[in-house]
Amino acid sequence: MRRLSHAEQYLIDYGVTKPRHIDLEALAWTMGAKVKYKRLSSCEAKITGLGDRAIITIDDSSGDRRARFSLSHEIGHWQRHRNQILSCSKQDIGGVNGQGAHKEREADRYAADFMMPAYLYRPLMREFKKPSFKSIDALAEEFQASRKASALRYIDVDRSESMLICFGPNGRKWFRGSKDWPDEWAPKRDHDPDSGVMELLFGKTTPGADRSLVPASAFFGRYSAENHNVYAHSVISRSRGGQTDAEVMTFIVPQNSDMFDDVYASRGW
Ligand SMILES: [Zn+2]
Repeated sequence: MRRLSHAEQYLIDYGVTKPRHIDLEALAWTMGAKVKYKRLSSCEAKITGLGDRAIITIDDSSGDRRARFSLSHEIGHWQRHRNQILSCSKQDIGGVNGQGAHKEREADRYAADFMMPAYLYRPLMREFKKPSFKSIDALAEEFQASRKASALRYIDVDRSESMLICFGPNGRKWFRGSKDWPDEWAPKRDHDPDSGVMELLFGKTTPGADRSLVPASAFFGRYSAENHNVYAHSVISRSRGGQTDAEVMTFIVPQNSDMFDDVYASRGW
């Protein structure tokens, strides 16, 4: 069995057996940290710790679910980087692709484990036999997480192959594959006309209610992509601030498990 992380062990010791038991403020209190909410001008969240006590301040103007992730992130700092005064910007909290300071990524990992512990998230995600943003959104609702945080969590705890790609007007911004997704199958850098991403980005169509089957070559440039299909579900993840801020997130799973056989063959498996 997989070893539990510090965050997950803390939740288990505290008797958390359902997502709705994860009362972040009460849990922070058990760690000696008091939580306050107010508008912050220079950062999104901060923590001031002294000895066994800390005050965590959260700016919740980006919504309750984002605030929950920020609070979990600060709890991560409290557990991992004690006796430091830290202030975290929007970019520090919930960054993708492992960029940014080591401490921030450590706090993010703690946050994901604390808010969506794998021992609760994974059994619930298995109930969805046809994963898409419908299931990711249902899980987000269950854990009171943002859509993006839930999608990244899905990828990180998935034991089969899935991938999340984020596109902006200039092409691919970032992507993350589940642990077993082979590096050889990296997504295309540019929008492919068959992906439908451009139309979504520029408001010419609306997102589908569920995933659809498309040729793998709509998202992947690998030579064998022509021979396979993937289930893809694209949604608009952020559109405030006009077109320059528009983002499309696409969640992908292979139609058949033989899609990666060429990779395994070339590796000599
Ligand atoms: Zn931080």
